[in-house]
Amino acid sequence: MKDFDFIIIGGGCAGLSLAYELEIHKKLENKSLAIIEPRLEYKKDKTWSFWRVEKHNFDDCVKKNWEDFSINVPSKTKHLKCNNYPYQSIDSGLFYKKVINKLKENKNISFFKNIKEVNQDNSFIFNSVPSIKTEKNSLWQHFYGVEIKTKENIFDDGIINLMDFDCEQKDSVHFFYTLPFQKNKALIETTWLSKMTDDSLKDYDNQIKKYIEQNLKIKNYEIVYKEQGAIPLFYPSNTNEINKINIGTAGGMTRLSTGYTFLNIQEHSKYIRMNIENIKNIKHFQIKKKYQLLDKIFLKVLEKNPEKMPDIFFNMFNASTNKVIKFLSNKSNFLEDFSIILKMPKIIFIKALFGK
Ligand SMILES: Cc1cc2nc3c(=O)[nH]c(=O)nc-3n(C[C@H](O)[C@H](O)[C@H](O)COP(=O)(O)OP(=O)(O)OC[C@H]3O[C@@H](n4cnc5c(N)ncnc54)[C@H](O)[C@@H]3O)c2cc1C
Repeated sequence: MKDFDFIIIGGGCAGLSLAYELEIHKKLENKSLAIIEPRLEYKKDKTWSFWRVEKHNFDDCVKKNWEDFSINVPSKTKHLKCNNYPYQSIDSGLFYKKVINKLKENKNISFFKNIKEVNQDNSFIFNSVPSIKTEKNSLWQHFYGVEIKTKENIFDDGIINLMDFDCEQKDSVHFFYTLPFQKNKALIETTWLSKMTDDSLKDYDNQIKKYIEQNLKIKNYEIVYKEQGAIPLFYPSNTNEINKINIGTAGGMTRLSTGYTFLNIQEHSKYIRMNIENIKNIKHFQIKKKYQLLDKIFLKVLEKNPEKMPDIFFNMFNASTNKVIKFLSNKSNFLEDFSIILKMPKIIFIKALFGK
């Protein structure tokens, strides 16, 4: 079995982002890398979206940028501008193609399907396979989305609908999310923030059909793509070791209050690349502690008061949009944090903080 300087376990978003970052900064000219990925072929399986609060390597994989978004609760809608931080959607199919093509140019990089094919003893390992201990009380963000094509030009492709809470909540938190890529093409997702114990929340096809036909009033459409996911709203139990760093979801890169992970993965990749020569001694990279604490409180509120969450999300955006975006993207300063916290209902947050 061959030895490698580095091994990346899992060639998904985090594994490939890291390999690409190392490659384009010439950190693999004299070092060998093995990427372990069991999937047989790469094809589009996710749409990664986020506010572009910082530069990343994948602008050419962006399907569309928007500078306007809306959020709805029954009978109220807010229209918001995000021209400073456009909302972007990355097509994972384009991402995989770009990264794999680039990595194949370097003969120091090898791909394997199974970790048993390489010798791990002398390598530094970056692991992106999460170790999830499923407990029945754990919260998840679970969702199912379809990209539809309509006969007529129905969508306003200049504005996304970030959260539409005008739907059945079933003692959980439920919203629809619509990304109009063209006037006749949009990704529509049904999203739940809940435990995984109630199977009735998972009849996603019916939920989507009802929403498209009754809320969006679209009758003639064709489904051209589907995606489904479940993001843990808790940290996986992976631990870092002397010769191993966890990355991606496994490395705690998900913002637990939102599920946003993509840009955190990019920041982590950059941090590893900048420190690769001294990788065994670097400080553990994590989402700032203040966000970890605030998200923990937020999720406690969510668990205890799901019926209040549509208004809480809606009212959060009473603060300046730029501040909210920075807060949700881990880029806010103390004053900005404070202005968001002021928009939250005080008593239930204080109760959550003190565990009542
Ligand atoms: C459908 C979906 C949509 C999402 N949308 C967004 C979004 O809009 N914005 C956002 O910020 N985040 C989003 N996320 C969250 C997050 O960005 C993604 O989950 C992202 O793919 C996480 O990257 P990762 O590398 O940790 O995991 P993955 O991309 O899942 O990569 C893990 C890789 O490990 C491989 N693997 C599994 N088992 C093994 C094994 N035993 N050995 C080796 N390899 C293995 C898998 O095949 C996979 O390729 C989304 C998640 C999903 C599931």
